[in-house]
Amino acid sequence: AAKSAGRNRFHYFTRELGVAAQQRLQQEQALKTALLNQEIYVEYQPKIDFSSDQLVGVEALVRWRRQGQVVSPAQFIPVAEESGQIIEIGRHVLRTACRDARRVLVGPLHAVPVAVNVSIRQLTDPSFVGDLQSALAESGLPGHALEIEVTESVLMQNMEAAAEVLGKIKALGVRIAIDDFGTGYSSLAYLASLPVDVLKIDKFFVDAYATHPKNMAVITAIIDLAQHLQLEVIAEGVETRTQADFLLAHGCRCMQGYYFSRPLSLPALQDYAERLNPELLTPDRQAA
Ligand code: C2E
Ligand code: MG
Ligand code: MG
Ligand code: MG
Repeated sequence: AAKSAGRNRFHYFTRELGVAAQQRLQQEQALKTALLNQEIYVEYQPKIDFSSDQLVGVEALVRWRRQGQVVSPAQFIPVAEESGQIIEIGRHVLRTACRDARRVLVGPLHAVPVAVNVSIRQLTDPSFVGDLQSALAESGLPGHALEIEVTESVLMQNMEAAAEVLGKIKALGVRIAIDDFGTGYSSLAYLASLPVDVLKIDKFFVDAYATHPKNMAVITAIIDLAQHLQLEVIAEGVETRTQADFLLAHGCRCMQGYYFSRPLSLPALQDYAERLNPELLTPDRQAA
């Protein structure tokens, strides 16, 4: 009797759980084997200096090919974050990005940094700084050729914990960017105290400046803020020439978006990088 009551309760529960929650549960199950089955991989989106047309960085973006379909990170990162699987997935992305960058983005004289996105759960995990150190040591990538992107909202949620970890990351020479900047209501006093190198202007403002004059003021204010704090600034989600011209005219030279390139596979990135920055080629490949 107890058993059948349990089963009934289960049926009742799954019905109540709803379709969305069931999909989430199935996704969590599928994620467990995704790493083993090599379904998780990384693409790289170029960051361009629009005033010189040079490659100034790339952003590593995780992908999951699940039964032939690519699942968006916007969909599975929150699931992985809640289940804790983000730690293992994040470690894989970090190691892959460092290894790939060492191969195609480090030249004899200079390196183009690779940026890796890090969620709050990763940033505050006790293993994070050690993972960072191992990924660098294992790949031979210099610390200054790696950048960590943390969203503004995440930093603001956990100010003290975040500040402590950022200090340790910085001590490895790794660069720190605040992602989706402008959407998270930063305390400016707090921002000035963090060891941050780059502000990334959120796509929202890049899209909306033309339609709402107040958004234009937000973009120019962020660019000015970055200059005054001596931070680099980059705009994300640039899709048109008009947007790129506007940003450059207001002092933001670095940009990322479909106008320049979609996220690329490693071989496609290598071609792209060699075209824009031939100095990255090692002498033997320059001769070839
Ligand atoms: P994000 O870090 O702000 O990354 C930018 C997102 O905008 C990427 O979406 C990129 O493909 C997309 N994008 C770039 N240029 C354009 C453009 O011109 N137009 C439009 N419409 N979109 C553009 P993606 O790859 O789907 O990633 C979404 C978010 O998932 C990322 O936002 C980031 O927060 C998270 N994410 C991606 N990879 C990782 C990862 O390895 N670890 C963690 N923790 N989060 C990740
Ligand atoms: Mg990012
Ligand atoms: Mg972003
Ligand atoms: Mg964004």
